[in-house]
Amino acid sequence: MLYLMFVIGCIFGSFYTLVGMRLPKNESIIKPGSHCENCGHMLKWYENIPLLSYIFLGGSCKKCKEPISSTYFLMELLSGTLFALCYKVFGININLFLSLIISSLVIIIFVSDSKYMIINDSPLVISVILIFILRFVDKGIVSALLSLLYGAVIFLFAYLLKVFGTYTFHQEALGGGDIKLSFVAGMLLGIRLGIVYIVLASFLAFPYALYVTLKNKDHMLPFGPFLVSSLLIVFLNNDIISKIVKVLFRI
Ligand SMILES: [Zn+2]
Repeated sequence: MLYLMFVIGCIFGSFYTLVGMRLPKNESIIKPGSHCENCGHMLKWYENIPLLSYIFLGGSCKKCKEPISSTYFLMELLSGTLFALCYKVFGININLFLSLIISSLVIIIFVSDSKYMIINDSPLVISVILIFILRFVDKGIVSALLSLLYGAVIFLFAYLLKVFGTYTFHQEALGGGDIKLSFVAGMLLGIRLGIVYIVLASFLAFPYALYVTLKNKDHMLPFGPFLVSSLLIVFLNNDIISKIVKVLFRI
């Protein structure tokens, strides 16, 4: 079952990488099919197998021999690993499906935000709808509506941070996509863990931000990959993190 989840994760990861590459450019995610970015060679089915084709083709196009971006290979590997990990943590229950939604966002946002500094709306909207339906099926309409309320609270929290950060540092602190992603996080985590999610994301981003600032490179940092990683970490460990929060703050 673990291997099966890995394989399914690789296949989905291949599609999510394509979504993350094409949505920011407003390209269709269906047509054209996968092709070489250099010569336009349309990939045959056996050149389009997640992970394996990249290895067998030696990382270059069969026709023009131009190197293929390793992004697909790395994201497929990450996606397969995350799907297997989610199954290992939760087994088969509602939390598995919720954690797979987060894993899907991880891949799409890693690609689109680090490549184009964009988090598109459509993957977030689809996630909100799926989470609402899963909560409704699992615990009924009250639980589903509450998740929307929690989403709105964390959305507002992230928005206030943006206003405060922009005012204090005189530059854009959080992007619109980061704030909308926080709505999804609030739906999944509730209010207390939702705040942990934002704090943890800042800690995760700090070494990278420091590195970029010291190198005096472009000061715009994609924060989405850190936010969505934090969301997955908190969701996968929500039992232990809930306990720590309770002990620390006695709430
Ligand atoms: Zn080619």
